[in-house]
Order: sequence, then C-alpha cells, then structure tokens
Amino acid sequence: MIPFVDLKTQYASIKLEVDAAIQRTLETCQFTLGADVAEFEKEFAAYSQATFGVGVNTGTSALHLGLLAAGIGPGDEVITSPFTFVATVAAIYYTGATPVLVDIDPATYTIDPTQIEAAITPATKAIIPIHLYGQPADMDPIMGIARKHGLIVLEDACQAHGAEYKGKRVGAIGDMAAFSFYPGKNLGAYGEGGMLTTDNADHNRAVRMLRDWGAERKYHHELKGYNYRLEGLQGAILRVKLKYLDRWTERRRATAARYDAMFAGTGLTTPFVRDDVRHVYHIYAIRTPDRARWQEELNAQGIQSGIHYPIPVHLLPAYADLGYKQGQFPHAEKAASEVLSLPMFPEFTEQQQDVVVAAVKKLQASV
Ligand SMILES: *Cc1c(COP(=O)(O)O)cnc(C)c1O
Repeated sequence: MIPFVDLKTQYASIKLEVDAAIQRTLETCQFTLGADVAEFEKEFAAYSQATFGVGVNTGTSALHLGLLAAGIGPGDEVITSPFTFVATVAAIYYTGATPVLVDIDPATYTIDPTQIEAAITPATKAIIPIHLYGQPADMDPIMGIARKHGLIVLEDACQAHGAEYKGKRVGAIGDMAAFSFYPGKNLGAYGEGGMLTTDNADHNRAVRMLRDWGAERKYHHELKGYNYRLEGLQGAILRVKLKYLDRWTERRRATAARYDAMFAGTGLTTPFVRDDVRHVYHIYAIRTPDRARWQEELNAQGIQSGIHYPIPVHLLPAYADLGYKQGQFPHAEKAASEVLSLPMFPEFTEQQQDVVVAAVKKLQASV
C-alpha cells in the first residue's frame, strides 16, 4: 500500500528527541502553555519572519481570534474564497460577521485579486486570502486593495508553513496570519495546535488574552475570552519538529519537481506555480475530469489519494444560508470537481513515487 501521508515513518526518524521532549513535559508538569510553548512561539514567529507568535489550540482558533483582535463582529463582512477547508468560513461565522465569497484564480486556486473590489461594501472589514496547498496567494494586489479601503488582511497560512512570496515568508505579509499544526499539516503536532503570527503589538496582546479567558492576570478578566490554549506537550513536540521543517519542505519540493518532470509531455494538468513564490506543497494536486474512476483505479492498486476539496463552501448544506447558487463561482466549482491530490510527504521514496507515476500515466494515456 502506498499511503497518502506517513506519520509513522516520520515519528521513527525523530523518536529519540520526541520521546525526550514528552518525558520532559511529564516531569515539569507544564501541561498547558508553559515554557516550551513560550519558546516555540518565539521560534515559530522567527521562522515565519513575524515579530509575535501566539500559540492556540487549533488553526481555526487562530483565524477566529485574529478576526476578534481586529474588532470584527456582527454586522461586519469578511471576504474570502470558497475553494478552501470549511474552517476558513466557519471562523468568520464564529465572530457573528458575514462571509462574502470571491472566486479563485483557476491556475493557482487562490483568491482572484481582480474580483475583490467588486465585493467590497461599507460593511467590509477584512480579507482572508488562503495560501491553498502551500502556494501563497497574490499578496501585493491584495494588500494594495486592503490599504486603499482600510481593511485588515488575515492570511490563512494553515497549509503554508515556510512558504514565501517575493522572498518574504508568509506570516506577516498581511496584518496577521493563522497557522495550523493539525497532525497532517507540513508542521504537525501529535494532537491539535495552531498559531497566530503578527508584527502588530496590539493584535498580539489581544489574541494572547483572548486565548486564555481574556485575562492577563489570573481572574482579572478584561475581555470575554476563550479556552484556546496550546498544550505544553504539543509545544515541546513542535519545537523538536520545527528543526526539521526546512529539510522536510525541501523533500516535498524535490518530490513535486520529480512528479512535474515525470508527467511532462503527457498532457496531464500538474500544479501551476507562480515564479515569485516558494511553494511548500502541502498538497500536490493534478486535475482530471474523470476523477472518480481515476481514484477508484488507484485505490485498486493500493495507492491512496485525496480530494482537497470536493465541494466548495458555497455549495455545502451547512452554508446554504449564505444564499449563493451553483454557477456563481465557476472556477472554484470546476476545480472542486477535478482536483486529485497524489501522495506527498517528506518520507515518500522514489520507488513509491515511481509506482504512483506509472499508474497515473496509464490512466492519462487512456483518455
Ligand atoms: C487545516 C486548515 C484550517 C484549520 O486548521 P485546524 O488546526 O484543523 O483548526 C484552516 N484553513 C485551512 C486552509 C486548513 O487547511
């Protein structure tokens, strides 16, 4: 069987260090926040070229608190795109604000900056560009529009640890950025985790308070806060894993380059990569109109694949109340019906990749 990701092999490669970090936490008993979380916040903020990092329990919480720190609530509108994991839109709902959707660029799958201004109203307060699959959204025009209209930009960097746009890391290109450490992400906890990064001291302070019941001093609650703290064990584990992240990302990039080279000339649609970014390949997605059959055939040969994501948010039953209709975001809808994610993880071997490529080439030759 060829897995889609292989967390077991990764753990085996760092077992001694991870086990020691877990043991240390059991002995210090710093189970929630604590010294390792504080160090990890500094280390991950520096890694992301941001001044501040605030550890939280999930990437979704980082999005939620980032919006709250910007003062967003009922009556406000937040612009994002529908081709994403549902959490991006859910976090907007949590604040009481209304999500306003804008279609994607069909090549990069990230929000189409040329369609943003038409969606801005007097109620618009923020834009959440999603660095989907690990490729940064086109941040220069997005920041230009945001500055012109006085909007906050919160990057959804949950799939893009270490990605770069014009030589700058994602994490502080916008006003704030949200990262996820869900186990399958490029930097994954052994449980749940997330972080909000920013250069803005006020946003840092607000998110830091909100994640821990709105208090800087115990029992002195200044804000209506949440229990969104990052666990000590996850901080200790993530500190170990962060040291390997660049090595792992380079392995992902080499795997993507090898996929590209091996598929060249077959007519297969492989990922489009802007020439001014460092794509970190959380996902390597090809496209085929015959996806269901392809996925079945691959499965039959023991090759796992994934679909990120089969239904754009505006067509999900849970968000029917947004009032969008089929056909309103044609690029997102077409992508959702055609993308197929191939195995992609740092420990993927060339032998495994040869098997996947041979199977996909055979399917492509049959069309
Ligand atoms: C994973 C993910 C999230 C949510 O992160 P969690 O840690 O699972 O809450 C949000 N947005 C995108 C694009 C993601 O991939």
